[in-house]
Amino acid sequence: MKAGIERVLESPAERIEPLAAMAATLFRPMGVDGVLARTPLYESVVEGLSSLISRLREPGTEILRFPPVMSRRDLEKSGYLKSFPNLLGCVCALHGTEAEIRGAADCDETGGDWTDSVTPADLVLTPAACYPLYPLAAAAGPVPEAGLSFDVACDCFRHEPSRHLDRLQSFRMREYVCIGSAQQVMEFRERWIARGRQLAGELGLTRAIMPASDPFFGRTGQVMAVSQLQQSLKFELLVPVRSSEEPTACMSFNYHRDHFAMIWGLRGAAGEVVHTGCVAFGLDRLALAMFATHGLNVEHWPALVRAALRHAA
Ligand code: 5GP
Ligand code: ZN
Repeated sequence: MKAGIERVLESPAERIEPLAAMAATLFRPMGVDGVLARTPLYESVVEGLSSLISRLREPGTEILRFPPVMSRRDLEKSGYLKSFPNLLGCVCALHGTEAEIRGAADCDETGGDWTDSVTPADLVLTPAACYPLYPLAAAAGPVPEAGLSFDVACDCFRHEPSRHLDRLQSFRMREYVCIGSAQQVMEFRERWIARGRQLAGELGLTRAIMPASDPFFGRTGQVMAVSQLQQSLKFELLVPVRSSEEPTACMSFNYHRDHFAMIWGLRGAAGEVVHTGCVAFGLDRLALAMFATHGLNVEHWPALVRAALRHAA
């Protein structure tokens, strides 16, 4: 097993990757870049982090856990294809009569390609934990004056195969989401930037919070990214995981203005369009950051850090 993942990571580019030495202890290869099975040691840290984040949940927050797939129609309506078409994964399946499906499946044994016969299902792989929330919230009726607060989580997919351990195709994301007035959302984001900074400090992580932009697709995407930066819509908490020169975004703090509310008709009691924002915790990146910072032997981690993870529940 150990030899397996070392083999996966032994290309010249990866040999200089300091994290590669940790891979065999934390993961098992699954034959595809950016898709890894996780060991109990790694998982115990992910669980500790999840509990620690739960402990910070604000009163009155509704909890929802989403499956790794969501309605294709809903994601199309959210504008994802305009912004990140290159990252989207779509579920495909064999449709048709029994004979058609049998014929396509048998191709596999006769040297043909069964995937020539697949067609899209009505599902996509969820790319961020908050996308499925907005249509649900809109269906629940007007947003109360105090605003709405959610705790969501999801296994997320982004089609960006990489051999770097901090860039996975399938990773876990936890989010707190606020739906309310512009002021409520801005205050929510301020509170969570402060809490995120403090949380990373309790975990013994070197961190910086910086303005950021999303990797919008193509040339128009570059314009969108500049506008996002100019409007300070996104901040990220960066931790040196792979290197100090290229720190890794382990949390993001996002203000969507009225983007999702306009799409989904999210309105307040007086009919006004509301705003939304979210704070996202990349559980896999945070766990990796812990091992990169403190080493593989959890018993040797600073006592306060171990206590924070152990007593988090
Ligand atoms: P965002 O929606 O801001 O791009 O992502 C939210 C959080 O998900 C990021 O701050 C990061 O922690 C996590 N994340 C995003 N992309 C990846 C990835 O490729 N691999 C891993 N492990 N986590 C990611
Ligand atoms: Zn979000």
